[in-house]
Amino acid sequence: MNDYDEVNDVSMGKSHVVILGAGASRAAFPQGDVNGNSLPLMKDLIEQIGLSPIIKKALKEFKSDDFEEVYCQISELDDEELLRNIEGTIDAYFSKLKLPQEITLYDQLVLSLRGKDIIATFNWDPLLFLALQRNHLKGDMPKAAFLHGNVAIGCCHEDYLLAVRGAKCPKCGNPLCDTKLLYPIREKDYSQDHFIRNEWKKLERRIEHAFIVTIFGYSAPSADVDAIKLMEMAWSKNNAKNYGQIEIIDIENEDLVRRKWDPFIVDTHYDVRRDFQDSFIARYPRRSCEAMWAQVMECKYLEERALPRNPSWKELHTCIDPRIAVEKAQSDR
Ligand SMILES: [Zn+2]
Repeated sequence: MNDYDEVNDVSMGKSHVVILGAGASRAAFPQGDVNGNSLPLMKDLIEQIGLSPIIKKALKEFKSDDFEEVYCQISELDDEELLRNIEGTIDAYFSKLKLPQEITLYDQLVLSLRGKDIIATFNWDPLLFLALQRNHLKGDMPKAAFLHGNVAIGCCHEDYLLAVRGAKCPKCGNPLCDTKLLYPIREKDYSQDHFIRNEWKKLERRIEHAFIVTIFGYSAPSADVDAIKLMEMAWSKNNAKNYGQIEIIDIENEDLVRRKWDPFIVDTHYDVRRDFQDSFIARYPRRSCEAMWAQVMECKYLEERALPRNPSWKELHTCIDPRIAVEKAQSDR
């Protein structure tokens, strides 16, 4: 026992990297967005967003219900108009999604990480961006990377600047272009579009200097081998990976999950959690890396002061505010 208190410790420069897949948005919005629009997984996207009639017209037979697989099949038809139609339907569905007034899991997530950390998402929905936007005055916020494009973001291809979709470029004043939404074709080229390339660079740099990588609701589809390869390569360059930790939040069977992420896992340095509330992020908000280091490397005893389960805004701020105050005091020194 000792009197170590992680709230007062902001010494860790290494990042906590969080990677979100469709399962994370589903877990964050189990009842859908403010209007009850559901957050689809790849296997139910076709039905849920109304793509079924368009696809049934083009394909006599689906090999699977999984959008990734069906899209691979469709892209082989070389039908530009059909592809535009699918893209338009996806964009229109995700663009209309909005956060409810009440606190969401994404609010808890963005307030539980710091500026040295990053949340990289494969999701097209705008809800992570909106959570970052509505909480950003609270304190130092994590960075974000949108690995498959996002309906909330626009970019200027001349100045390489990003802002909210529909805005003007802060440098040249031209209207921003919508970001390209990247679809599941087997041979994705993440380097082709400069926006997508930059988003991947942001993630790779953080993975190279990460202490914890949390993979939340991302199923690592076989149609996206390049994504896994890029992440694996960045992790292999991380000189702390032998004592770093991989954390997986997934409702799938633990053995399956363990096998899927095997290339990232060193020895027993991994945890599989079924629920965000049990993750290191929620158990040690804004101090996940310091707390992990203290426990694993220095064998310190830590009293757990986790985020309350389903907190109100007030309860969340009561938990987070003292931690942000310590960070501000440290940076003012
Ligand atoms: Zn510009």
